This record gives sequence, C-alpha cells and structure tokens, in this order.
Amino acid sequence: MKRAVVVLIVLVAVFAGLLSHQLGNIKAGSESAADTSDTGYEYYTGDDEKDEDSGVKKTKKKSPLIKVDTKEDSITVLVNREYRMSADYIPADLVVPNVRFSFYGTFEKSYVRKVTAGALEKLFAAAERDGVILKAVSGYRSYARQKEIYDRNVSSRGKSATDLVSAKPGSSEHQTGLTIDVSSEAVDCALEESFGDTSDGKWLAKNCHNYGFIIRYPKDKTKITGYSYEPWHIRYVGRSWRHIFTRRI
Ligand SMILES: [Zn+2]
Repeated sequence: MKRAVVVLIVLVAVFAGLLSHQLGNIKAGSESAADTSDTGYEYYTGDDEKDEDSGVKKTKKKSPLIKVDTKEDSITVLVNREYRMSADYIPADLVVPNVRFSFYGTFEKSYVRKVTAGALEKLFAAAERDGVILKAVSGYRSYARQKEIYDRNVSSRGKSATDLVSAKPGSSEHQTGLTIDVSSEAVDCALEESFGDTSDGKWLAKNCHNYGFIIRYPKDKTKITGYSYEPWHIRYVGRSWRHIFTRRI
C-alpha cells in the first residue's frame, strides 16, 4: 500500500514537470514567433496581427496557438528568414508542370513538386477558361542556387550590405518545390507589384485558393510575413485549409 502511494506521488511529480515544461515552451513561443525550444515544437499565437489600414480599434478574438511545421517535406512547412531549410534538402518528387512558361527551355526553375504541378495545371486551365492566360516564371530554387546568388552579392557589395537585401541560402520558400512565381503578358511577365492590379493578377488572387494555393505575401500582411507584397508568388498549402481563405476573401 505504502509503495503504491510512493509510486503515485512520483508519477504525479513527473507529469507536473512535463506539463510545466510544455507550458513554458508555449509561453516562450508566444513572445516570439521565431523562438526555438529544445522540443522541436514552436508556437505562434497570431497576437502581433494588427489592422494596418485603419486607425479603428478592432476587438479581436485571441487566436489559438498554432504549431509551426518545420518538417521539410511537409505541405505546410514554414520557411522564412528564421526557419531556413537545410543545405541538403531537395524534394524527391520534382517534375515540370504542363503549363505555359515565360521562357523557353527547361531549367531548375521549371520544376515544382508533383502535388504542386497537378494543382498548378488545374489552376492555369481554369484561368484560361475565364480568358486569363497565366505564365509560370520561377518554381524550384535549390539551396545551391540560393548560395550562388548570395555569394555573388557578397563578393560584389560586401557581407553587411548583402544581408540587408539578399536572403541567406535556405530561406527561400522556392526550395520547398511548393512555390512558384506566376505572371502574365499584361506586365510582360515581370514579377512586380503592378501585376496585382491587372485583371490577371486579380483573377489569381481571387481563385488560387480553389486549387490549394495562397498569395503567400499579401499586401496587408507584411508585418506578419516579414516580406513585401508579392502578388506573383503563390504557395501550395493544399485544399484542406480552403475554408479559412474563403472566409478571409
Ligand atoms: Zn517567389
């Protein structure tokens, strides 16, 4: 009997320790989206989301904790300046999608992951049915290619100046194979903000979620994403999130 009580006390103590450790991680995560912990789990609360375009104070429901996905081959992996991909990550299922490109020939940038390719083909076909001709400009970008660009900038302008304008290797979402830059002849297939004002860019923003894509760096979310508005940069996240985007749009 005495032994059973001792065992019970030990179990309760271990459980309480684990719980407080986990709560500690959640609290740490809520202070900074970039916080890292030794568990491999990181949390983002969405608390730093503020309404930028009006002075009107909105009462916002506190967002639930979201676990950050850092699994490199996961459809919802987070990649940015804080969460970089490893030098040796190359998606295993890269293919060239059967869509129009803004250039001739096949290069590294022609490729995306298989799941992205299938969704992109459906997206481009739907656009065409609505009279919108989209062109794929740049898909997969390897770590090696990112390093090449970064190193070239360092040698031409120095490290500190480079770090202000050029992303470190591994921080490009294009390395996932889930991202592709899309444009149209309306802006000579340039990757520029004005694409978002064209009817082609508007069609893309309005409809891409139906095929599992999001405009990854929207105009009013730069404080959250940490990136300037990029109406051409779409990211495949799958269709199970579709209800969220439908509601936002
Ligand atoms: Zn891009």
